[in-house]
Amino acid sequence: MQNYGKRMTISDLTPTAKLLRQLVRIPSVNPHGNPGVANPGERACAEFVGKFLRRAGADVELQEVRPGRPNVIGVFKPKAPVKRRLLLAPHTDTVSVAGMTVDPFVATVSGGKLHGRGASDTKGPMAAMLQALREFTVSGAFKNGGLEITFAGLMSEEAYNHGAFAWAEKCPRYDLAIIGEPTQWQIVHAHKGCAWLAFTTKGRAVHASTPADGENAIYAMTPLLAYVEKKLMKKLAKFSHPQLGATSIAATTISGGAKDNIIPDTCEMHADLRYTPDLTVSAVLALIRADLKKLRIPAIVSVNSDNHPLHTAADHELIQKIRPHTNGLATAPWFCDAAIFGAHGIPAVALGPGSIAQAHTADEFIKLGDLEKGREGYLKILRALLP
Ligand SMILES: [Zn+2]
Repeated sequence: MQNYGKRMTISDLTPTAKLLRQLVRIPSVNPHGNPGVANPGERACAEFVGKFLRRAGADVELQEVRPGRPNVIGVFKPKAPVKRRLLLAPHTDTVSVAGMTVDPFVATVSGGKLHGRGASDTKGPMAAMLQALREFTVSGAFKNGGLEITFAGLMSEEAYNHGAFAWAEKCPRYDLAIIGEPTQWQIVHAHKGCAWLAFTTKGRAVHASTPADGENAIYAMTPLLAYVEKKLMKKLAKFSHPQLGATSIAATTISGGAKDNIIPDTCEMHADLRYTPDLTVSAVLALIRADLKKLRIPAIVSVNSDNHPLHTAADHELIQKIRPHTNGLATAPWFCDAAIFGAHGIPAVALGPGSIAQAHTADEFIKLGDLEKGREGYLKILRALLP
């Protein structure tokens, strides 16, 4: 066991920690919203990972998903005929660095932790995966084993999942996809879906001194709000999952009206829907539209975004194979790229070292001990997945 004390110098770091340090030092902030850097985007990180994969013996391609924002794909082929295909897929982007209390790109090592943006989410799991791959793919067991392994560094996981959608459209049918996220080395096999709905009511604008002459779109929202809060919530709660809990909906933003002295002619309310794997957003929409018609509430409902639920069967053969080398099965309140591969019929889970509690934070870090356990864990999993 290594001693990651305070006086450790960089030369004391393991190859995995050194690799993570290099990865953190390459800014790859997702450009969505306020990235907090002048040059956001994943290209530099994808190119660095591409070089690493090529040196480790993979066939590498960059898949340009958005201008200057590629996925990096590396395929390790065995000498033996391929009997099983595995995907290892962390994301290369990080969230914004705005408001961080540690330097996001220095990768400071102290007190047994490596600090910086992405250290936990998800360059730590990525470094552990890459290092395990480098060690495993030179072994005779891999070369003669019939397991083909693809490493995909996916762009834009932190907003819109463009990278996962692009690769899921194009990729072969993997027997298992392992998404690298900080899951405390638990296999996350299920999470809820998350959709954002928009409800609109219409009115007729007149001068506010004669309100009776117009129709007030904000008032028209009143029966709709009552419906969503009480009736709809109750109906959706019947869709429940033993681990994930019940489907829920909540009004999250509302806006309407143009001026203090005009009767508003439009009002829009947004709602956040968290749904169980037995539901689809189109089924929820159909239910809402039928209710609105019956209740004579003249509102329009539409979908602004929809992130699919994940529900890979816990008793899947390959999950059972890797399970003894992990901290067991879990579900998660968050959403990740695994759901996108799952929706394409590929059994997918998230698994990685570190904790989501240390992700997206002002002082993001990963414990070096966890990082090393991650590398060892991925190695064991790769061996266990040999056909
Ligand atoms: Zn992540």
